[in-house]
Parts: sequence; structure tokens; C-alpha cells
Amino acid sequence: MYKGLYAIDGHADILFRMGSERLSFYDPVSPLHQSYTHLRESGIDLQVFVTFNMPDVSANEQLLQVMDSLHRFHTEVYRPEAIVVIRTRAQLQAHMKNPTRLATLLSLEGADALNGHLSVLHALFQMGVRLIGLTWNGANCVADGVGELRGGGLTAFGRETVAQMQELGMLVDVSHLAARGVWDVIEVTQKPVIASHSNALAVHRHRRNLTDDQIRAIAQTGGVVGATFVPAFVGEGTDLGSEDVLRHIDHLIQVGGLDGVALGSDFDGIEHTLTDLRNGSDYPAFYGKLEARYGIEGLRRLIGGNLARVLSDTLPD
Ligand SMILES: [Zn+2]
Repeated sequence: MYKGLYAIDGHADILFRMGSERLSFYDPVSPLHQSYTHLRESGIDLQVFVTFNMPDVSANEQLLQVMDSLHRFHTEVYRPEAIVVIRTRAQLQAHMKNPTRLATLLSLEGADALNGHLSVLHALFQMGVRLIGLTWNGANCVADGVGELRGGGLTAFGRETVAQMQELGMLVDVSHLAARGVWDVIEVTQKPVIASHSNALAVHRHRRNLTDDQIRAIAQTGGVVGATFVPAFVGEGTDLGSEDVLRHIDHLIQVGGLDGVALGSDFDGIEHTLTDLRNGSDYPAFYGKLEARYGIEGLRRLIGGNLARVLSDTLPD
């Protein structure tokens, strides 16, 4: 907690980096941005753990990678004395009242592994996955990502997937989706949707950032845009810092309102970091800047209140 406020980071690739670089989550001097030590220093109460899979392999190979990531979570991250896994609204509410241990929520980035089978979606739900970013940059069975030139929207299977996810109690994440897919999701959604790690296109022109219309529409579903620390999405140049992220947050609030903004660092999914947001231990200083700018109530909503509300509206009983 930071000043008694519940804090959430909506996107980090800890599991991927643990696997690819053979890093330990609990090593006190781990180079992970979001190691256990850094997370405890950060004030974050709930960290979303992403299972990301390399996009250049078959869907079945990706499914194996997802299984590998989930297994890594259970063997190398989960310790009952240190970690709580959030699967239901009641578990979230209980943790918000007593956030002694670090809460985690499992997510999938890129629904390629579904490979056209809702049974895989159901199995992932049973395994605790509660948030899915529908695509990475490429195309898959659900939709096209921003890197697919065709720029298609949701497929028929993609529509079924969104409906089924929301019926089960899984949060739909539109970060990485091509524009048409974002609009398709907004058209069919019955629940709040999020962009877990995206910034504002009006502040910095990048294909992964969102237009004002998209920001507004996401907020109107009751969802949030998670401002992200990926330097390429923040601005031009090599010495970008938290002040540059604040310009995005200003704009996101101006367009989507104070209830429509959250944080999704993308820590451990980025090679380079911002100058003063290098890992979780830099969060408290950043929270201080948010409080100076938006007041304590603004801080409460931005650092976790809004995303907790969305999760409460979405998670199963
Ligand atoms: Zn991503």
C-alpha cells in the first residue's frame, strides 16, 4: 500500500523474463524490474502476471508456452505465505481489506493459444486466468493486432470469445489490437473493457497508442486505459522520464475522465526503461508526483481504485 491506498500494476512480463533469462523472482538482487523485492518496495498490492508467448511459432506451440508460464508461476512465484492469487470478486475484496501478502492476477497476452477452441478458454479460466489481451501485434484466430496491415476486426470466433470471457468473468484487454478490433469489442461488449498498457496518440504518435475517440469509448464502457512506461510509447528520444508519462496521464484524464485511467507498466517486457521509472522501487516517488498533480483522491483512483472497480465489475463471484 502507498499511504493506505490500494495499488495495482495492470501489466508486467515477469514470467516471460524469468523463463527467457532464467531469473529468480525471489532473488533479492534479481535484475527483474518487478522482482518480489522491488514489488514490496513499490507499494503495489496487486500485480497482474502476464503469460506472454512468442508470436513466431504455431498456436499449439504457443499453448505449450502458456502452460509452461503457468507452471512457472505455480512453482517459482506462488508461495502461500507470500502470494495470494485473485480469482473471484470476494477474494479481491478480502485482499483489499487486508493486503498483507502480494496479490497476483493471471493474464494472457495474445489469444493465439486458443486456436479456435473455446474449450481452451474454459481450461485457462479453470487454471485461474482472469484477463486476456486479445492479440499481440500480429493476427490470430480472434482478431488482428496493430502490426497486421489488413487491420481486420474481431473474427466470428473472436466475438464468441469476448462473449464467453465476459460470461465467465474474465476481463477483455484491447491493447495491441488494430483499430477496427477495438471498435468491434466496444460494440459487442457487455462489461467494462480495458487497454492494460497503452498511451495517448495525441501526445505521442505511435501505433500502439490510442486515439481520443478510443480513450473516450473505453472509459464509457466503465473501463480504463493503463498508462504505460514503454519508452517508445511515451515519446521520442532516450532520456524520457516520469514527467513524460505524466503528460500522457494528463491527456488520458482530460479525454477519458479521472475514472478512466490506471497504470500498466509493462515492466520486464521492455529492454530499456524510463530514467526515473527503472523498476518497482521507483513507484513511490512516482506516486508522490501523481499526488502533487491530482490530489489524494486522484491518486487513489489512478494507482488502483479504478482498476479495482473494473475487476470488481468483471470477476466471477
Ligand atoms: Zn504488450
